[in-house]
Amino acid sequence: MQNIQMVDLKTQYQRYEKEINQAVLDVLGSTAYINGPAVKAFQATMEEYLGAKHVIPCANGTDALQIAFMALKLQPGDEVIVPAFTYVATAEVIALLQLTPVMVDVDPNTFNITAEIIEKAITPKTKAIVPVNLFGQSCDLESIMELAKKYDLYVVEDNAQAIGADYTFADGHTQKTGTIGHIGCTSFYPSKNLGAFGDGGAIYTNDDELGSMLHMVANHGQNKRYYHKYVGVNSRLDSIQAAILNIKLKHLDEFAAARQQAADFYDQALADLPQVQTPVRSDFSTHVFHQYTLVVKEGDRNALQNFLKEKGVPSMIYYPVPLYEQEAYIHSNGGVKHLPVTDYLCKTVISLPMHTELTEDTLSYITDAVKAFFN
Ligand SMILES: *Cc1c(COP(=O)(O)O)cnc(C)c1O
Repeated sequence: MQNIQMVDLKTQYQRYEKEINQAVLDVLGSTAYINGPAVKAFQATMEEYLGAKHVIPCANGTDALQIAFMALKLQPGDEVIVPAFTYVATAEVIALLQLTPVMVDVDPNTFNITAEIIEKAITPKTKAIVPVNLFGQSCDLESIMELAKKYDLYVVEDNAQAIGADYTFADGHTQKTGTIGHIGCTSFYPSKNLGAFGDGGAIYTNDDELGSMLHMVANHGQNKRYYHKYVGVNSRLDSIQAAILNIKLKHLDEFAAARQQAADFYDQALADLPQVQTPVRSDFSTHVFHQYTLVVKEGDRNALQNFLKEKGVPSMIYYPVPLYEQEAYIHSNGGVKHLPVTDYLCKTVISLPMHTELTEDTLSYITDAVKAFFN
């Protein structure tokens, strides 16, 4: 039996081991551990890669979201529309700032929120929308931006899972996800598509005013050292992580291609299986496959997971519980009690191993195991 991993960080590291080790040693020797040249370099490379005017590195993806909402100066009680089918961080920071996360359902094919769904949840208290580009694919951001304009709302993209994906506008031009909303947030958690060797995150914007506000909030609210204009936070990407990310960023498009290749293999191998829905790819977005997630339409998802486990195939359930049913949010979810698509997805989705190091051998073994469960 093969040793199959959900995410293989080790093999990827070994491919760049020499270069990464040297970069880390350089930082150690430089003693510029905080805000050193590596951080500045990463910020600049990232701005260029994304085509974003301002990238503000920070300590993690959750902080990125929190700093984004602090920079928007929203007031307690303001409503922020978020998908109910997402990682908790999205809603957590909203609740933490005493804003109200209003949880909405998602599209059953893309698992993302749409302008149509969002519009129904807009009230006079709504101040912002958080499109989460889930599993590596963009929301329909052009229509969401039009809606935001119509109702005068901010858009904060949670791009933690879709860094590097391209969104195509109706006129044919493309833009990187995370740079289309007023603010984009991302995470460099090790297993993310661009993963550090520890925690890390970044915020991006094309708006100069928001850019300087985000910089201030992330740095104790100061515009000048020891002059504090706002109540801020301390959230920094450290130099060692930046040095590592600098190397990995050069390969981000190759990483995406490797993931897409694995996804193509899965798609083909599972195409004849009527019991599962393979990921639906939108025509307005590339898919960078942070996750490869099936919907088990017929059969017991949990039984499939146990069966795979016995065969040595790891899998994960992203996400098993709708946000509005989480104990922490039952009383602050904007009054939501049931959202049919989110509810259905939480009971039926299963994510298969997805990383940059999957071989055809491993992929065959995994898909044979999935097929064996149903046949
Ligand atoms: C990972 C993730 C985050 C949080 O990132 P951290 O770096 O772990 O704080 C936020 N939103 C989504 C959708 C994520 O997947």
